[in-house]
Amino acid sequence: MARAPFTIADTEIKAGTRQTVEVPVAKLYTHTPLHIPVEVIHGRRDGPVLMVCGAIHGDEINGVEIVRRVLKNSALRHLRGTLLAVPIVNIFGFVQRTRYLPDRRDLNRCFPGSESGSLGGRIAYLLRTQIMEKVTHIIDLHTGAIHRFNLPQIRAELKNPETVRMAEAFGAPIILNAGLREGSLRAYADSQDIPVITFEGGEALRFDDVVITSGVKGVVRVMRALEMIPSKKGPKAPRKRSETAAMSLWVRADIDGIMRPVARLGQKVRKGQRLAMVADPFGETEVSVLSPISGIVICVNNLPLVNEGEAIYHVARFDELGEAEKAMDYFRSSLDPEVTEAVLPVHPWDNDSK
Ligand SMILES: [Zn+2]
Repeated sequence: MARAPFTIADTEIKAGTRQTVEVPVAKLYTHTPLHIPVEVIHGRRDGPVLMVCGAIHGDEINGVEIVRRVLKNSALRHLRGTLLAVPIVNIFGFVQRTRYLPDRRDLNRCFPGSESGSLGGRIAYLLRTQIMEKVTHIIDLHTGAIHRFNLPQIRAELKNPETVRMAEAFGAPIILNAGLREGSLRAYADSQDIPVITFEGGEALRFDDVVITSGVKGVVRVMRALEMIPSKKGPKAPRKRSETAAMSLWVRADIDGIMRPVARLGQKVRKGQRLAMVADPFGETEVSVLSPISGIVICVNNLPLVNEGEAIYHVARFDELGEAEKAMDYFRSSLDPEVTEAVLPVHPWDNDSK
């Protein structure tokens, strides 16, 4: 018997076909209707229903390109289950090139939302009832905030074994066991026992090829692990792609001033090692920003102008730092060296690394 069609926004997608569906979301006050475009690939055979979504923060555009490249994958012709690709969740923010909605709310704090709430609440409600209630697994794609560049990493609540399986299958070098932020898509999904992982990589309003490539590979690996697409033949994957951090913390600037970064993204740092220098414009006052823990640098601030107390480096601590280094080495070795140099730069003044 043929598999039943998949219905979304009153559109039926037959098994073995794919279609772009415009899910009506709201009207602009110009009377212009807005839609969230969703590409539905409904496989011939039963299987998981995976949602891959990007740009819930409207300026986090790497995920949009990750979704585009995933949709080109020829293995999708033999898909088992259903893929719902939502490249741009926050249509409003994306058009305005901002993280937020027009009323300055963060859509990723509006879940579960309500039918009669504010714009954010309504979009969250729509996403929940039209899409999320139909899925079995979710991959939510994010980047760092503006001027903050995240090392490719997975954030997940590692209590659910299926979530752990997805997080490990993704193969980003670092996994953070991240608590759930109230009102986020991830918190809502988790409350419904839908396994969900968040990919973080790169910075807002920028494309980064290393990040995009690792995101695309990660989504495909998760789909293989869920047996939605066939596993690749050939040599077995290495045992150690990812290491889970014990905790992470933001290191902040001690004074207002102009920052010169010393430690680089993905670098191992020892407790007390210099991460950056901050000086006033005349160089009269200058302080070193030291790492309070040993770990791996997982986010750097790219804007040299900092205020006292501003978060400038995110460092993750590991029970086995050597294992995290191995995961980083594997990550670097899997990339095009020229591209790696561009994204994980070695600064000429970086003489106290390693
Ligand atoms: Zn985000």
